[in-house]
Amino acid sequence: MTDVNQPPPSVAPPALLQVEQLQQYFTLGGGLLKKGRTLYAVDGVSFSLAPGKTLGLVGESGCGKSTLARALLKLQEPTGGRIVFDGQDITAYSPRQMRPLRQQMQLVFQDPQESLNSRHTVETILQEPFVIHGRGTRAERKVWTTELLARVGLPASALGRYPHEFSGGQRQRIGIARAMALKPKLLVCDEAVSALDVSVQSQILNLLLSLQQEHQLALLFIAHDLSVVKHISDDIAVMYLGRIIELAPADELYHHPRHPYTQALLAAIPRPNPRQRFAPAMLIGEPPSPANPPSGCHFRTRCPYAGELCAKQPPRLNSEGLVNKEHHVACHYHQQIAEGSRLPKSAADYDNIASLSSSS
Ligand code: SF4
Repeated sequence: MTDVNQPPPSVAPPALLQVEQLQQYFTLGGGLLKKGRTLYAVDGVSFSLAPGKTLGLVGESGCGKSTLARALLKLQEPTGGRIVFDGQDITAYSPRQMRPLRQQMQLVFQDPQESLNSRHTVETILQEPFVIHGRGTRAERKVWTTELLARVGLPASALGRYPHEFSGGQRQRIGIARAMALKPKLLVCDEAVSALDVSVQSQILNLLLSLQQEHQLALLFIAHDLSVVKHISDDIAVMYLGRIIELAPADELYHHPRHPYTQALLAAIPRPNPRQRFAPAMLIGEPPSPANPPSGCHFRTRCPYAGELCAKQPPRLNSEGLVNKEHHVACHYHQQIAEGSRLPKSAADYDNIASLSSSS
């Protein structure tokens, strides 16, 4: 596949995590005599993340967000690109070389029910990271686990209980406590609040923010919903079919989205900003398969503004023509769309966009 994303400038140098042109491809099917098809799950993704900052990563399910997380944490071997963590190029690190770094980069999962061992007490679960990395005596570990529980808002009496005895929000607090046990520098939250009620979501987001302030944590916060990442992110990257198609500071992205896909995601939020000025595009149809992505711009089969160039040439992620140079967008026509000189390609698209604009 063609490299379309140039590495954008750092969110705030020096970066703790630098990801350059990361690729994660999988081969589907095939056999001894038959060549398999390639699935382009992550296709040339670049970004950087500084200590104490949050990057929100958003896109529809299946766009490659979770695969990207696993690749940059080296839970699977990336096909190409480069990962620099805390000054070390870890791209080719073996599992043994990664072992001391594992404590610095932790993952919080969507479903704590699955990630917490149901046969172990909370005490055993929270002690596990200390045991694996040979930290402390038994007495010290007991003190640390009690402190961890208190820090995530749970009483010491929870230590002797099992994961199924807790609510979803409490289980996620236990998951976060376990991830924070070794004081990591990077926390990757993969849909960590998606399964929770809205009120519980905000409690968990507040907990993550306070932990971030205390420990200068860098957070990569993955969600399928732009409204969830808004309050926690310094910057937001929008992903579509394995590529980042827009990357900007959070306020800039919410108030001046330039990519038709980002505009459609924002329009799908139940209570859109009444002051929004852009004409949001409707999302037409389902995303294509990453095993058979459209040529040129991957979004072109759903984009009401697509033109001839979109099928021929993949748009580069860049800040050309944008006032805010921290804003990057991958669309050949974003300037014309913003100026209103490029109209949607069909009357139906035009009606959809016009009705969304007037109702916003
Ligand atoms: Fe739409 Fe073309 Fe822009 Fe892609 S490059 S988002 S198809 S206008």
